Amino acid sequence: MTVLTSKEKEEIQHQFTLLLEKSPRLKKKTDRELVEKALSLANEAHKNMRRRSGEPYIFHPLSVARIVSEEIGLGSLSIICALLHDVVEDTDYTLEDIEYQFGEKAATIIDGLTKISGAFDNQTSTQAENFRKILLTLSDDVRVILIKLADRLHNMRTLHAMPAEKQLKIASETIFIYAPLAHRLGLHAIKTELEDLSLKYRHPQVYDEIAHKIREKEKSRIAEINRFSLPIIEALEKNHIQFDINGRPKSIYSVWKKMQTKNIPFEEVYDLLAIRIIFEPKPRISEKALCWNIYSLITDIYIPKPDRLRDWISKPKANGYEALHATVMGPSGKWVEVQIRSRRMDEIAERGYAAHWKYKGINAQVNELDVWLRKIRELLEDPNENALEFLDEFKLNLYSSEILVFTPKGHIKSLPKNASTLDFAYEIHSEIGNHAIGAKVNHRLVPLSYKLSSGDQVEILTSDKQKPQREWLDYVNTVKAKVNIKKSLKTDTRSRIQTGKLKLESKLKELDIPLSARVFRKLLPAYEVLSKDELYSKIGLDLIDLSDIKKILKQKSKNKLVKYWELQFLRSKNTKEAEDNGEALQEKQKNQEKKTLVLHEDPDATESFYKIAPCCKPIPGDQVTGYQDPDTDQVIIHKSNCPVIVKLASEHGERIIPVRWTAHKVLSFLTRIKIVGIDRIGILNDITSVVSKVLNVNIRALNVDVDDGIFNATLDIYVHSTVHLNNLVYELAKIKSVEKVNREETIVE
Ligand code: MN
Repeated sequence: MTVLTSKEKEEIQHQFTLLLEKSPRLKKKTDRELVEKALSLANEAHKNMRRRSGEPYIFHPLSVARIVSEEIGLGSLSIICALLHDVVEDTDYTLEDIEYQFGEKAATIIDGLTKISGAFDNQTSTQAENFRKILLTLSDDVRVILIKLADRLHNMRTLHAMPAEKQLKIASETIFIYAPLAHRLGLHAIKTELEDLSLKYRHPQVYDEIAHKIREKEKSRIAEINRFSLPIIEALEKNHIQFDINGRPKSIYSVWKKMQTKNIPFEEVYDLLAIRIIFEPKPRISEKALCWNIYSLITDIYIPKPDRLRDWISKPKANGYEALHATVMGPSGKWVEVQIRSRRMDEIAERGYAAHWKYKGINAQVNELDVWLRKIRELLEDPNENALEFLDEFKLNLYSSEILVFTPKGHIKSLPKNASTLDFAYEIHSEIGNHAIGAKVNHRLVPLSYKLSSGDQVEILTSDKQKPQREWLDYVNTVKAKVNIKKSLKTDTRSRIQTGKLKLESKLKELDIPLSARVFRKLLPAYEVLSKDELYSKIGLDLIDLSDIKKILKQKSKNKLVKYWELQFLRSKNTKEAEDNGEALQEKQKNQEKKTLVLHEDPDATESFYKIAPCCKPIPGDQVTGYQDPDTDQVIIHKSNCPVIVKLASEHGERIIPVRWTAHKVLSFLTRIKIVGIDRIGILNDITSVVSKVLNVNIRALNVDVDDGIFNATLDIYVHSTVHLNNLVYELAKIKSVEKVNREETIVE
């Protein structure tokens, strides 16, 4: 046991005085007394403990409390919880003790903090699960995460005292979980420090090297910034604007990351100049007006790059960030980014969530964070979702930049960049997404795959008949949409298999045949399927009718289906023998009749063993020929009359494989049709409603051209087969004033 030295006691008292002095939100006497009480409890609880560095343990909670107060800006309750955050976990004190002395709220927060720590101690749980647990606590109280971030920051600042393997684990967790969270909560300064510290322990050499180079470059960079800033400073002073101007320092981590992602050397990253202007508000003029005023003064001096103007003031980012970003041509012929923001905006940018408190009266953007937290909660409500999948997709959403779009009523929704109209539909409600058939963007009809841009106004069109399709997964980007589509597809598959199974069982019962392995051995090849589930699935879909089942079961089995792996085997064997025996054998093979490869449909497989040729895009029902690609060994399916396959056949006849389709009903294939007609009001609406409402076909792209009253439309659509397509063409041709509907034979994209 170790007793505190008098010097240590003095230092604790000193730190505590600083905590009280520097906490702007600790004004009330009662609050200060409670904080004091928390310190003495923590002091007592941890009195015999020291950290690995040798210093008394109490320095850790004290430091965390100071971060919580000074760097995040939280109030007395959070400070108390920070002081007590390790008490329940590491000492004999219980949650009840805390509740008794500090109230229910404090006990809940400390309970949350203890649970998070528990998540990491458990060696069996994966990082993904840990992350999930952490996010779950968000639903309790966001202060739990903020205090946890402060705790992690202090641990990272003192990580040098830890043994090497622990350093690596903690540093990895930090970059994996805590830095993205800090980013999302708008804690820019903390996020940057966590990233830098993590890099320092994960890649010490890289870290030192970049840090060294930055120091070397510092002088010339400052000189360049001064040269650029001087005329701006003069102009702002002349207009009586009070401000700070600085060259935005780049963090070591951000430099490293840019070098990695863009694959460019240090110099190229570092030479990009960026400056920040932080202005003080003026009476009787709004911050927004002042921002644009400054923008105008700067662009009087330097020429702006119009496509690089970012207005985060009219609509702040979801994490609360507000500023005006512009890029102008500097005096030395290089682009310079200029960020303009008020003192208040700057504080929010650096300290995020908590800074909103201070300015709540001025600007009530706190809601944005609540909205984000609510979204996470919704996602977490589905306990069956695979944790890893969730994590990957969630992380994507943490970092990706956002676009802002409008509902028909003018409400704003924020979505990740690259979001489609279908993402938007799911964002509104999962039921809207599940039944979406198309959308109107800025009053123009567009397909579900249409990529949205900031500022679009979107209205979703729905139909009761619609349900989620497999190809939808190709054009959604939000977690919410993916989770819902997959859920629905899984349910579909399960119910299809179940229906098929019941049908087969009752049919066999009717015939008085017991269900046995022998039955399957006969049925699978006869119906050209590869597994029991596929058989059930196809029976469930009515793709297989069981009227001839008796005949099949009586027949002697003959295996006419060539499975893909058998084909592979055949090929490799042939090649080997050919090498051994020379050309005589090859000649013999040529004369041999080749077996036909059956392109059967597995409704539930995620990947196919064949590939549709991009040149002619055949669909089931077309006459097709296969070509075994020597590089990938994949069989590529062309239309038999495609010029590409004709040429290949003449050069590499040995790689040509006869193929044929089985009936397709679930998988969809992309094809293109052209429609020509006389233009009239509503024609486009009629076409899209036939395509999506009547026939339930998904549109990938739609191009319309009207020239001299003649209407020309190109539709890229997903169909199951030629039967399906012909049906569609027939229906489209019936539309008033449509003259001609054709399938486009060669698709050039
Ligand atoms: Mn701690």
